[in-house]
Amino acid sequence: MDIGFIGLGQMGFHMARRLVEAGHRLVVFDNRREAIEPLTALGAQAAASPRELADAVETVMVSLPTPDVVLAVATGASGVIEGKRVRRFVDLSTTGAVMAKRIFEALKTRNIVQIDCPVSGGVTGAAKGTLALMASGPRAEINAIEPALAAIGKTFFISERPGAGQTMKLCNNFLSAAAMTATSEAMVMGVKAGLDPRIMLDVINSGTGRNTATEDKFGRVVLPRTFNLGFTVGLMTKDLKLCLGEGKALGVPMQVAEAVTQLLQTACDENGPDKDLTTVVQPVERRAGVEVRAPRASGPLPK
Ligand code: NAD
Repeated sequence: MDIGFIGLGQMGFHMARRLVEAGHRLVVFDNRREAIEPLTALGAQAAASPRELADAVETVMVSLPTPDVVLAVATGASGVIEGKRVRRFVDLSTTGAVMAKRIFEALKTRNIVQIDCPVSGGVTGAAKGTLALMASGPRAEINAIEPALAAIGKTFFISERPGAGQTMKLCNNFLSAAAMTATSEAMVMGVKAGLDPRIMLDVINSGTGRNTATEDKFGRVVLPRTFNLGFTVGLMTKDLKLCLGEGKALGVPMQVAEAVTQLLQTACDENGPDKDLTTVVQPVERRAGVEVRAPRASGPLPK
């Protein structure tokens, strides 16, 4: 297929790379020059603006940071909406249902179909092509792009309704952030009481407390203190705020989501929003006066 791809960041780079490697003809755009070059080196063509990209292809995919950026790229001046050839706008970002519907309506006026298709699985999933893709929009249009989506992950058809995929994604990320924040508190408490964090993870992962933070994030990037998951705490805070907004609009009480958002916001305020999501453990560590790190020497267990 001929595909345009806008937003070549942590997630977008890998998705675009996999599309090129699967043999699709790719036209790419990002407002950071250095993000474009690795893709053109693989054979993608560079466009000078979203409009120019949308002049060249029928299907435009985007992986952009925030709802406002997606709106501007889709419907702003020199945006996708002005393209001559484009027929489909596939939003792989986490944008929220309200914005997805707004973009759907705006693009409809130019006969462009908006498909929301947020993704889960992190940078590792993007690199391996194992993302969960939550697609909503006209079934026939989703079927038409299925060969391309297959290169980046597994497609779940959520609904014909615009925004439904976004709601699905917010439910998922609320749970993912709840796991990360709750695990941070539990691990800091254990370490302060003198428990070995590696043994804690082994026990939790064999028990009922296991979750994506205990099974993956803590062992891989918190204990070694590398904090390099590849998803910023600022973007997760954006997702939780979108989730709270959606819960409120639907009349669903979300006390737990509020507490999770508070801790994420504290991490943004104290460490900066561009730091890794996993640094959310640090405000808890600071107040407790301990760090969750793997002990330096790890010899065999005493007999
Ligand atoms: P990122 O910040 O690494 O990448 C965003 C890219 O968009 C950057 O390359 C940036 O230069 C580009 N960009 C920003 N404004 C632009 C504009 N106006 N025009 C063109 N390009 C522009 O973000 P990411 O971590 O790759 O996340 C992208 C989206 O995917 C977000 O909505 C995020 O919530 C979601 N997401 C991220 C992860 C993850 O683990 N990182 C997982 C699932 C979903």
